[in-house]
Amino acid sequence: MRQTQIAVPTWREASADAESGGHRYLLRSGMIRQLAAGVYTYLPLGFRVLSKISAVIRQELNHAGVQEMLMPALQPAELLKTSGRDEVYGHELFRLKDRHHREFALGPTHEEVITSLVKQEISSYRQLPVAFFQIQTKFRDEPRPRSGLLRGREFLMMDAYSFHNDYESLDSFYEVMHAAYERILSRCGLEYRGVEADAGAIGGEGGSHEFMAFSDIGEDTIAVCGSCGYAANLEKAEVRLRLAQNGSEPAGINSGTNIENAVPERFHTPGLRTIEELSAACGEPASSFIKTILFNADGAAIAVLVRGDREVNEIKVKHALGAQELRLADGGEIVDWTGASSGFSGPVGLTLPLLVDREVALMRRGIVGANETDYHLRGVRPGKDFSLERTGDFRNAAEGDACPRCHGVLSMQHGIEVGHIFKLGEKYTSPFNAQVLRADGQSLTPVAGCYGIGVSRLMAAVAEQCHDEHGLNWPEEVAPFRVHLIPVSAKDELQMQMAEKLYQVLIGLGMEVLLDDREERPGVKFNDADLIGIPWRIIVGKKAGEGYVEVKRRGMQETETVSLEEAVRRVT
Ligand code: ATP
Ligand code: MG
Ligand code: MG
Ligand code: MG
Repeated sequence: MRQTQIAVPTWREASADAESGGHRYLLRSGMIRQLAAGVYTYLPLGFRVLSKISAVIRQELNHAGVQEMLMPALQPAELLKTSGRDEVYGHELFRLKDRHHREFALGPTHEEVITSLVKQEISSYRQLPVAFFQIQTKFRDEPRPRSGLLRGREFLMMDAYSFHNDYESLDSFYEVMHAAYERILSRCGLEYRGVEADAGAIGGEGGSHEFMAFSDIGEDTIAVCGSCGYAANLEKAEVRLRLAQNGSEPAGINSGTNIENAVPERFHTPGLRTIEELSAACGEPASSFIKTILFNADGAAIAVLVRGDREVNEIKVKHALGAQELRLADGGEIVDWTGASSGFSGPVGLTLPLLVDREVALMRRGIVGANETDYHLRGVRPGKDFSLERTGDFRNAAEGDACPRCHGVLSMQHGIEVGHIFKLGEKYTSPFNAQVLRADGQSLTPVAGCYGIGVSRLMAAVAEQCHDEHGLNWPEEVAPFRVHLIPVSAKDELQMQMAEKLYQVLIGLGMEVLLDDREERPGVKFNDADLIGIPWRIIVGKKAGEGYVEVKRRGMQETETVSLEEAVRRVT
């Protein structure tokens, strides 16, 4: 393509609202322009990058056996009401009415649409497993659109959905998708990490992973272990702690320092669940089934003792706390769950979301208990009476904490969530009553998985990671062109002829070449070339007459003078 035939409106300066390096250079290189907050136009170069990323995704997903389709962006509101997501999304959902006053929404994702399709079209277990994907524009009325394409209100997403007869099939397909995501992101040249994640508004019980591009401007914080590779998003509301046994007695239990009378109301972290929220989630006062909450020396909840029937109330606690599981740590055993706190024997650990933190930091100073007069226990010996180890992922982890898996050291990093995969289970198939017939004639509710990649966000994340102080530096797979061919002087006929000849040769080899045929000063051309960030540059200059050109890699200092043939060889 000739640069005189493609609109590349570069800017010398960034606009004031450019919030990050990547955003600034996407604007300055003329790749994107804002129409409204979180709503962008892709100019030809930007669109080429977006299309390259989409092509990588298509290739890898087709390879994984996922079939491409296209669903409507316009969704009848009933669909979202059936799943309950109408409420979950709240103001984030773009809502509208048609001329007959029927309610619609612009799709934030498509679990409901695909599930209703599967319900209609798939009737037998023999038709499963099945997996679909689409690359389509999504709409979310984000409260804070940010950094250009990073958080848009209209953005391009790849969303995939799979349906299975059983979890075994879902689990193995989930691994296939996990691997496909890794290939996609690596091919896009991204530095990223797959991390354990919370399911968010998509929901589902079965597990979920996010793919985080490392970046200081990322909104998510991830804990990464340098030794074993363990990584989790701190958003994941889970805490797993182990009550260590000191000597023969379980610490903190029989030593007179349990918080028998702790007032649950006083132990909550703003933003997490309060006792009222727990009560609301259960439809009854949580205090009627939570008897006592035990805390560790860091003030984190380690155990909840329930009243009455253990099995019934354990389920209630789990539900109220939104915990995936209440699990005993290795070797742990609860002898009498409902009884007095002395019923603990051996190391105990529970998987709970964090109920407390700051307020009970007092424990560190030897005071244990609530912020209520006479409910404190004084003289506690943290480390002796309450010696607990964290053994799993936890929301309030900090830089330097011990890794829950291996005793390595955790470091905190910021990440941009570029992809997210979920095991949904029956979350959507059940409310939509999407059933298939089994071999024995009984009906079966399929389990599903869903998988998303923010295609436009991925473009922004690559731009964030791949730029320097002069502009963008696209990885080869996603670059708008492979070669930027620059005759230094458009007035020099020989240079122009030579550039034209090279252009034809490269195009003949099937390469994507941008020929800067503009009548601009060399400085302007080179500055623009740096901004745009095409990986290979061939400069046709003074030595053109002798058959030599210069080859340069974007991001490298050196320029090499080579023959025409060698130049072609270098860039292929
Ligand atoms: P976030 O936590 O950043 O709000 P999300 O968890 O709400 O994202 P998902 O529902 O998991 O997003 O959607 C799948 C993928 O779509 C995300 O992993 C992300 O890459 C992308 N995505 C989500 N919201 C946006 C947005 N507003 N702009 C661009 N991409 C987005
Ligand atoms: Mg979101
Ligand atoms: Mg998220
Ligand atoms: Mg997500």
